Amino acid sequence: MNKIEIQEEIRRLSNLLRLYQHLYYVEAVPGVSDLEYDSLFDRLLELEQQNPELIEPDSPSLRVGSDLASDLPEVAHSIPVLSLDKAYSAEEVEAWMAKTRKNAGGSLGFSVEEKIDGISIVLYYEGGILTRAVTRGNGFIGNDVSSNVRTIGSVPLKLPEAVDLAVRGEIYLPLEKFEELNKKMDPPYANPRNLAAGTIRRIRSSEAARIPLDIFVYEGFFSDNQPSEHEEIINRLSNLGFRINPRHRFFDDAASLAEYIRKSTEERSSLPYEIDGLVIKVNQISARDELGYTGHHPRWAIAYKFESSQGTTVLNGIDIQVGRTGRITPVGRVVPVLIGGSTVSNVTLHNQEYINMLEIAPGDTVAVSKRGDVIPAVERVIEKGVAEHPVWIIPGSCPSCGSTLIKRGAHHFCPNRACPDQIRGRIFFFIDKKQMDIENFGPETVEYLIERNLITDVEDLYTCNYDELIGEKGFGEKKINLIKEGIKKSLDKPFINVLSSLGIPELGKKAAELLINAGFTSIDLLIKAAEEEDTEKFISIHGIGERTSELIIDELRRPELLSKIEKLKNAGLRFEAEQSELKVTGGIFAGQSWCITGSFENYKPREAALEEIKKRGGASVGQVTGKTTHLLCGKGGGSKKTKAEKLGIEIVSEEDFLKLIQ
Ligand code: NAD
Repeated sequence: MNKIEIQEEIRRLSNLLRLYQHLYYVEAVPGVSDLEYDSLFDRLLELEQQNPELIEPDSPSLRVGSDLASDLPEVAHSIPVLSLDKAYSAEEVEAWMAKTRKNAGGSLGFSVEEKIDGISIVLYYEGGILTRAVTRGNGFIGNDVSSNVRTIGSVPLKLPEAVDLAVRGEIYLPLEKFEELNKKMDPPYANPRNLAAGTIRRIRSSEAARIPLDIFVYEGFFSDNQPSEHEEIINRLSNLGFRINPRHRFFDDAASLAEYIRKSTEERSSLPYEIDGLVIKVNQISARDELGYTGHHPRWAIAYKFESSQGTTVLNGIDIQVGRTGRITPVGRVVPVLIGGSTVSNVTLHNQEYINMLEIAPGDTVAVSKRGDVIPAVERVIEKGVAEHPVWIIPGSCPSCGSTLIKRGAHHFCPNRACPDQIRGRIFFFIDKKQMDIENFGPETVEYLIERNLITDVEDLYTCNYDELIGEKGFGEKKINLIKEGIKKSLDKPFINVLSSLGIPELGKKAAELLINAGFTSIDLLIKAAEEEDTEKFISIHGIGERTSELIIDELRRPELLSKIEKLKNAGLRFEAEQSELKVTGGIFAGQSWCITGSFENYKPREAALEEIKKRGGASVGQVTGKTTHLLCGKGGGSKKTKAEKLGIEIVSEEDFLKLIQ
């Protein structure tokens, strides 16, 4: 390439990177995979290093990829908020450590921390009160997203000391929450980072409050008495009530670092959050000051990037699976590809909307990512194939029973409860180890019983005449006795297992536990509340939302389910909790019922305060009644305040509330 061609290539790469930065940081819908982005960035760096005279003043290599959005207020940062330099191997990090030691002219200690794959945030405190939460922006100016950040329970709103302080941290969405929430997203998000990024930029904080974001903080800049070491800063932040990732380490030799990298790579997929690398930082603050910053990154830290968990493959075809509730899930079959150490041959395609969004069809070349333990997902189509239709469409009928599919919300469903795939799904779910744990009942047995028409639903497991099978394909007397033993043993399973095995949507083990501990200690009590359509009784339980309450009520009013419960009761299953199953629920507000009124300085929207109450075991109610124990009263107050005064209910001010929750 001659100089002109190189200059053109530099411009092309810079423009492309700026476009991808906008899509990634502002729109939260990446245009390319991180792998592709990083290789474009590295290519730009290479060309610029070889031709320093061609570096443009606004090159993406000289500044931070901007996440500034025009619809949010802008504020200036008072601390440097930059990107990180990158390394791709332990050797590169070691070489960087040696160079840094030389440049700082002395013996240095280092810290190693997980690089959380989330949203960068700076929290500003004045006199110990959170005054602003600002995105990284372009490194100098960021967007004020304070009201959204205030909805995150682990962000302290008031510190125990009246310090002036800026704190850097990463906001993220725990994987488990992401998987749970993403089922309801339409279309679903490809990864937790995108959902978290979208949430932090919401204009309405009440929407942000519904997404259970969390935070880890990793840097503190104190206006007075700044500690002399990073380790001390971290300890101070922890004492002030900030959430610190406990997996960070301090070390001063390369061998410890190499060991940490090895272990971390191994454990990465079992973490409850996503990380895309590790960050290695100089521990001594005086050495950091001496080393300083480029326009893009500090010279005292480096990011070690993990091998990518993305790959490219071809979509061979799409099968549809029918779940136990009749829900249809399209599953993509891809040419097997090695990603992050394991072979991927199936990818989830969620539903028709997701397929439409990707504009995907068999034959397309696709970018696939595997993150944590989440099922591999298609991130985007790289190149269209030659399919007859550019976008695949879910067929009109169920592949298992031929019934016409119906659409509810984002998903298609097979409406036929007698559909063989649904029966199979319900039985497999019921006998599963985590549910009724019916021993000696393998998949072949289930298949055979369905085929022989001996079971058409779970209740038949308890009435089936297994002796009839003796002598048939593989069923000797011994095997039949083992099956009967397994069935008998399942009668001892506690109520929580029985309740969560009924297949009521959203009513898994966790919800069952919440219901039981909130006083629904028998199926009869639940059925009665459902009969009365008493949604409030369910919603007031912390952890049970409106949608779950409605689903539970609808299901427990369905005659088929009631008849199934009756049959299972007659079979001897436990539909009442024993004393030993009941937990004493903790939390400072346990057993209390809170109502809220007025407007608040620290809770905008005020629902954020209700979240604080629920998190600490309290129940929240919409109206002041005789059962209400506390009224959280902000500015104003009105009729609820008058009523609470009349009823002698404890009225708590915002200031007192903040003290209570600290
Ligand atoms: P970076 O990789 O340079 O890392 C810096 C960021 O890491 C910080 O801003 C901070 O938010 C975060 N971080 C997490 N834990 C940390 C810790 N313990 N200590 C310090 N920082 C920590 O991030 P960047 O500059 O935002 O973006 C570069 C990367 O983002 C790229 O390498 C690429 O993977 C991705 N990206 C992808 C696209 C795309 O289109 N796919 C576009 C832009 C950026």
